[in-house]
Amino acid sequence: MAPTTREKDAAKQGGHNSSDLDGEHNEWKFREPYKVHENDENFKALYEGSCHCGRVRYQLSREKPLDAKYCHCSTCQVLHGAPFQWAAIFHKSDINFTHGHSDLGWYESSEKTTRHKLPCKVSCAYCRSPIMDEGRNMILLFPSLIKFKSKEEKKNFDPTCHMFYSKRLVDIPDGLPKWSEMQNKSDLIEDSPPEAIKKRKREIEDEKKNGEKDSKSAKKDS
Ligand SMILES: [Zn+2]
Ligand SMILES: [Zn+2]
Repeated sequence: MAPTTREKDAAKQGGHNSSDLDGEHNEWKFREPYKVHENDENFKALYEGSCHCGRVRYQLSREKPLDAKYCHCSTCQVLHGAPFQWAAIFHKSDINFTHGHSDLGWYESSEKTTRHKLPCKVSCAYCRSPIMDEGRNMILLFPSLIKFKSKEEKKNFDPTCHMFYSKRLVDIPDGLPKWSEMQNKSDLIEDSPPEAIKKRKREIEDEKKNGEKDSKSAKKDS
């Protein structure tokens, strides 16, 4: 759908040049999460974040992310130049870019392309600060860019687990659940809480039972 004049006016206020706004290749700018929110009461800016150079700036309207986690996978280690990555999950409608939509760069790691292809890593095209992973439905925002006003605010972004912990470069003995690979799809290892490990074992057993049932009924049907 082509952007309306109103959307374009809002985008201009958000720092776009009018020459940036026309043409199909620019339509991503009018879709969430890049769509500029108009100045209405529906968007309450609770947090502000910016890249290192300040060209890209955004606001967030949700007090607590849907989840937050540390990822130790080797792709995150390389693309972030860090031992692990800290990400907080938000809906695409929770973010409002106030500056620098035109200054974003993308990277999709399986094809190694810089086209806007989901899921992809989004960074500032000038200072290269990683900003978020954009998924098909959600965004995984990197909270290190948020200017927290208090410890309580930062606490909302505390991680609930570690992912790809088997690939870790450093041990983090914080007692949180530690998935060997993907969350809920791998084993819980190291110092994961015993209750979480028991729960995971039960889930795996249930999955097995259901799998057997499925294959039996499939045989019957064939
Ligand atoms: Zn920047
Ligand atoms: Zn990762």
